[in-house]
Amino acid sequence: MDLKKLASALIPDADILPIDEYEKIYPERERAPKAEVTRLAPSPTGFIHLGNLYSALADERSAHTTGGIFYLRIEDTDEKRKVDGAVESVIRSLKYFGINFDEGAEIDSPLNKYGPYYQRQRAKIYRAFVKDLIERGYAYPCFCSEDELNAVREEQSANKDTTGYYGKWAKCRNLGEDEIYKKLAAGVPYVIRLKSQGSIENKIAFRDAIKGEVTVTENEQDVVILKSDGIPTYHFAHAIDDHFMRTTLVIRGEEWLSSLPVHLELHKVLGFKPPRYAHTSSLMKMDGETKRKLSKRKDPELSLDYYRKAGYYPVAVVKYLMTLLNSDFEEWALKNPDGDYRTFKFRIDKMSRSGALFDLDKLNDVSKTEISKLSAEECYEFLNGWVREFGTEKDKSHFDDREYIIEVLALIMGIGGKKRRKDIERAEQGVRLLDYFFDDTFSPEYCYRFDKNTVNTVLNEFIKVYEPSDDNSAWFAKVKKIAPLVGFASEMSEYKANPSAYGGNVSDVAEILRIAVTGMPNSPDLCTIMRILGKERSVSRLKAGLR
Ligand code: GLU
Repeated sequence: MDLKKLASALIPDADILPIDEYEKIYPERERAPKAEVTRLAPSPTGFIHLGNLYSALADERSAHTTGGIFYLRIEDTDEKRKVDGAVESVIRSLKYFGINFDEGAEIDSPLNKYGPYYQRQRAKIYRAFVKDLIERGYAYPCFCSEDELNAVREEQSANKDTTGYYGKWAKCRNLGEDEIYKKLAAGVPYVIRLKSQGSIENKIAFRDAIKGEVTVTENEQDVVILKSDGIPTYHFAHAIDDHFMRTTLVIRGEEWLSSLPVHLELHKVLGFKPPRYAHTSSLMKMDGETKRKLSKRKDPELSLDYYRKAGYYPVAVVKYLMTLLNSDFEEWALKNPDGDYRTFKFRIDKMSRSGALFDLDKLNDVSKTEISKLSAEECYEFLNGWVREFGTEKDKSHFDDREYIIEVLALIMGIGGKKRRKDIERAEQGVRLLDYFFDDTFSPEYCYRFDKNTVNTVLNEFIKVYEPSDDNSAWFAKVKKIAPLVGFASEMSEYKANPSAYGGNVSDVAEILRIAVTGMPNSPDLCTIMRILGKERSVSRLKAGLR
């Protein structure tokens, strides 16, 4: 058969370049020998989840700890899955977590020399290589209709044969020249398939950058490489792209391991040296006693929006993911509590081979700790960012008073004290801790543990003596003085020596005051809270607390 003529009939495009040209257009990158070129290659569905972030972090760290490049490629070969604004949303989501691309789709960079970075815009490149494969006898047209393919699949299933288009089932593999041209003349739609040279009798030993030595079975499927709309399939497009974008390391979920034989064969017939592959294991969680994969349907925490809405401190999420990525990160982080995680030497070969266990409680702990390290001003900026996007109208107006919030935060965070407090876990929860500092969100519960008389005496007596200029010890001395008036011990030691002799002690007096002023039995230092609220507000709350 005249394959050149066939290739021209199937790919009649006038404007495609000879394939050698592409080696010149997209030359090897100038890079240090160990510098990795990695990519995130999402389809533009707009949904980007924790697993993607986990993988993207491994990509970004692999590139940036080696002086390499991390780029964004959009795999939009399947038009049906496209969602408007999805690319921007991927970029924005990752940026929130401090993960930035050096080059790629919608990235404004002088490095963008390997584009276009949208696969649909690269059709010409793919078609040039499909044409070349046809000319060399590695690809052929297939005219089978959906119905025919379904019938084949049913027969294979009934025979318990492997399903797919291969071997004796690959009807169009051996079509004669006349038949092909007849179908073409009749306008029968066709796809182009790889003419697989593989056999499932053969095994390929392969070294995965995470999983180590892996043995896979050779591909024997004549997979579709070009669809009837002239656009390639993901498999074909990604092989061309990873080669011409000069990717050195492909990090992707282990669900792609089963496609690896196809990918290796594609690289082989195209004459490319494949990149190194690293297949990450899925993130798992404990569900009761059992460990299972995080699921889109069951686990809201799989969606990245969850973290933004809940107001997790982004660096905390990243640091927590780092502990899952490299088991020695945690030790490093303990030794370098204030160290930037970017100075940790990330290594892809230290990633866990089995599914990492994602534990929200641990993340919460990391988040609390990271937030506790901020200055009051930094914490304000962080909370304010959340408030502007997710807060109520009241929250927004509260946050207009930056100075006041910073003063409150300094107290809540224990800044200047012996030890930082870790009360703020996430913005959503942290912002609520500020509610009682504003009259329009102060909603006391008055959960006093003492009788009306005791409560009223304590409050009235304190109203009489309260002076906002009192320092902590003067303030506390006044609280102590009230204790005997309600039959409470003013010294803890006295109370402990003989608890039954007293109705309570000095800290119970303070609790009554605290409930009146903050609405809660626990709070940071009450004397400071009252100073921040000011005399008028403090006294009116003490009065409102009378029963
Ligand atoms: N486009 C594929 C996806 O949506 C990317 C797979 C790969 O990284 O090779 O996950």
